[in-house]
Amino acid sequence: MDQVQNHNVLYYCPMHPEIRQNRPGTCPICGMNLVPGAAIDSSDEEKSYKRMAKKFRIALALSIPVFIIAMSEFFGFLHLDLIASKASWGWVQFALATPVLFYSGRDFFKRGWSSIRRWSPNMWTLISIGVGTAWLFSVIGLLFPGIFPAQFKDAQGNVHLYFEAAAVIFTLVLLGQVIELGAHSKTNSAIKALLNLVPPVARIIRKGQEKEIPLENVHP
Ligand SMILES: [Zn+2]
Repeated sequence: MDQVQNHNVLYYCPMHPEIRQNRPGTCPICGMNLVPGAAIDSSDEEKSYKRMAKKFRIALALSIPVFIIAMSEFFGFLHLDLIASKASWGWVQFALATPVLFYSGRDFFKRGWSSIRRWSPNMWTLISIGVGTAWLFSVIGLLFPGIFPAQFKDAQGNVHLYFEAAAVIFTLVLLGQVIELGAHSKTNSAIKALLNLVPPVARIIRKGQEKEIPLENVHP
């Protein structure tokens, strides 16, 4: 039996307790996930944990090949240069890294944009500007290599790309979010289990007689 109800639970930011609202969301100041002030129905927390874990798994599966392609000189045994040209591998990196940013990491850009709109820079401003710039620079480098000076290119005239940096940063941030949500969900279940230990009735002694009354009728 689920004795803990979800009514009137306030969600607040662990860093900014003055931020309170009656639904889940993110803090307008620092962009952290708001946590419930009381034990809630764990299905909500479980859902957001599962959603984030799925995004992380997709990001990880896509980031590993991007990383290997970008660091191909350390993976010489794969002979990637014999399979396709460096420019073609650049497009493969684009195709793999783009969903990491705009599917798995879409919420991070939203948080970054909201921090800029509110003039309240935080971790998400930094992450979204850094990762967004790396991606945009690499896309322009792929499309218009001619506009870049020679220092930005390798011996074959290919612009150095940063898709792997963008994808790996978002994958690591996603891992952090999964760990954070997992910890919240476990704490929530532990608090709920504790609250469910409270007995439903209280025994009182009135005029020498012992009586059982519902716990709601007991007031301090
Ligand atoms: Zn906050």
